[in-house]
Amino acid sequence: VLPPDSGRRRWLQALCAQVLERAGFSYVETPVFESAELFARGVGASTDIVRKEMFTFSDKAGRSLTLRPENTAGICRAYIEHGMHKWPQPVRLWYWGPFFRHEAPQAGRYRQFTQVGAETLGSDDPAIDAEAILLLAEILERAGVERLRLRIASLGSPETRQAYAEELRSYLRGREAELAPEVRERLDVNPLRAFDSDHAGTRAVMAAAPRLLDRLAADDVEHFRAVLGLLDAAGLEYEVDTTLVRGLDYYTRTVFEFESAALGAQRGVGGGGRYDRLVAELGGPDTPACGWAAGVERILLAGAKGPAMAGPDVVVATATGARDAVARALRLARELRAAGLAAELAEPGRALRRQLRRADRVGARAVAIVGDDLQLKMLDSGAQTPVAGPAEVVRALASGGEGADPGVTA
Ligand code: AMP
Repeated sequence: VLPPDSGRRRWLQALCAQVLERAGFSYVETPVFESAELFARGVGASTDIVRKEMFTFSDKAGRSLTLRPENTAGICRAYIEHGMHKWPQPVRLWYWGPFFRHEAPQAGRYRQFTQVGAETLGSDDPAIDAEAILLLAEILERAGVERLRLRIASLGSPETRQAYAEELRSYLRGREAELAPEVRERLDVNPLRAFDSDHAGTRAVMAAAPRLLDRLAADDVEHFRAVLGLLDAAGLEYEVDTTLVRGLDYYTRTVFEFESAALGAQRGVGGGGRYDRLVAELGGPDTPACGWAAGVERILLAGAKGPAMAGPDVVVATATGARDAVARALRLARELRAAGLAAELAEPGRALRRQLRRADRVGARAVAIVGDDLQLKMLDSGAQTPVAGPAEVVRALASGGEGADPGVTA
């Protein structure tokens, strides 16, 4: 991640921090690797992530460790390990960091990528689901992601899902010959994943398959209706998609995914859902929870603009390479920064002409030239005047424009 792209990324991070922290989410960092066992139990042994995509290795003590492919399992582990169920509930946490999946790299799909995510633990209220979705929608919209589409569904409880999986499995067995080989292979493990297939024959079979949404228990239906009602009230558009299956096993009830048609094949920008049993499954107290993760690289690819990288307010140049002038230039730069300006030191040993050219190229507004006296040259007008000291430089520059604020505060 190099400049100038790194500037847009930092701007996006500041935007995420602002949106989430205003909503009461606290920032967390969990380890980049965890025990392999955590992901096998947390993400689910039948998922592509666990079966094919994890970078797993043994450490010197022979423990099996995995570079984290996602963060919900790690957050639940931290919640349990640090007794967060004793904190005021719900606990709201957000994160930003690197994740690792061994997938075939292509545009928008990397083996190391960055996710921003938010998790709310300790409440089963439908308002938590709705708020999570609205916060992600706000981030994506303010980040400038274009042609967004939100799909949402409910997966109900694990029991409903299991009964439904049986029903679906026997339906698929009846039409096995029409299915893709890899779907046939996984019929026993996870027939729901057949909805993800791109294979034409499989898609035709799936179009007539029984739907989980029609099999949900009454309380799950009620929860789902409440979430949709809250999204309606907030004016957020969505599509109920009965075929939505997320690639992680831990979800219960609400699942959702944002896509951008501005992206190519890898169009998912972010998604999530409820995982009411995960904390208990990992050995903690019963803790309903809901959250999402979004791909930072994909948000940036899908059109997040961010401000253009601002040049420094002032470049401090030296008219001679004399020690005394260099020391004064360094002091002036520090004084200007202390006064709130972005002040960059030009390379003092170079000819003044080259220092000025550099100031131009980095987009500085002015150059302070330290020689026998101090001169300020404005780069837009070319006007050059003697100034008494840093205070006068600050005054001259205060009259035009702002500094390099990321613009997120608006
Ligand atoms: P998931 O944890 O699979 O639900 O992924 C959440 C989001 O992370 C996706 O919508 C993508 O934006 C992003 N993502 C997942 N895998 C990758 C990858 N290999 N490369 C880049 N972004 C990814």
